[in-house]
Amino acid sequence: MKKILFYLFFVIILIITMPIIFTNKFKTEEVISNQTVEEKFDYGKYSTIKLLHTETGEVEELDLDSYLYGVVSSEMPANFEMEALKAQAVSARTYTIYQIKNGSKHENADLCDNSAHCQAWISKENRMARWEEDLREEYWKKIVTAVNETKGKIILYNNEPINALFHSNSGGSTETSLNVWGGDFPYFQVVETSGEEAYTSYNSETQITKDELITIMLEKYSEFKIDFSKEDCIKIVEYTDSGRIKKMQIGNIELSGVEARKLFNLKSAKFNFEINGDVIKFIVTGYGHGVGLSQCGSDALAKQGKNYEEIIKYYYKDVEISE
Ligand SMILES: [Zn+2]
Repeated sequence: MKKILFYLFFVIILIITMPIIFTNKFKTEEVISNQTVEEKFDYGKYSTIKLLHTETGEVEELDLDSYLYGVVSSEMPANFEMEALKAQAVSARTYTIYQIKNGSKHENADLCDNSAHCQAWISKENRMARWEEDLREEYWKKIVTAVNETKGKIILYNNEPINALFHSNSGGSTETSLNVWGGDFPYFQVVETSGEEAYTSYNSETQITKDELITIMLEKYSEFKIDFSKEDCIKIVEYTDSGRIKKMQIGNIELSGVEARKLFNLKSAKFNFEINGDVIKFIVTGYGHGVGLSQCGSDALAKQGKNYEEIIKYYYKDVEISE
């Protein structure tokens, strides 16, 4: 009898407490989702971003972290590791603040949505539509988490936000900014990464005919001449410490690897070439300018167990991350 009473008592307690447990659970979730919407981090004068939509010419005002959802989801594949996405979120946040702080390239906006000019951005609606339907919710949640869980985090050098540049795939080693744009930043060094070769952006090839090469060169250099019967009509003169082309000679013109990349539309300045009959084949390693954080490298490092702070400090030298 005592035993039955005990069980009865236990069941009654359960009946009373279950709804409380569940209600509390829902309450907690509600508070969390409200926080993501309402409790914005105070970034002071960088709290609101004026974003120029290049297609329509419209300028939209967004709070910094909401703007970053669109940047991170556009700049990095959502199937990358969470720590890589977080490293991307902090880099993009820092890059954004650096750009505004050092004078926007736009008159009526802080940044535009063009990756070649400022930083890629995509609306939630367009982003979702491009993901497979059964992955949409999971992917968007991942992006939002990467931004929210790094809220307020900014990369600093000497207490100042850094020019947190990033690129797709360094092809094994990153480049200094000096070799790409001429500006020298102490936090951009040559950094070697293993694991990037597992990504499709690691290898690429571009082929052009001899005639196409002549046309392209003449557009830029009217004095251009080349004698394809000479074995060294195209040659690499010098490499940078990261293994990219520093100087090359094409006919009578000397040009940098960065310039050759642009002229022949190559994915990076780390390349070799072959001349086969009428065709010049460029064999390219890596994708992007190669300065700062490598996105594929970040994913590879995350897979090796590194967290986002370690990834950031791996690619940007001697930096601190704000609390
Ligand atoms: Zn822009």
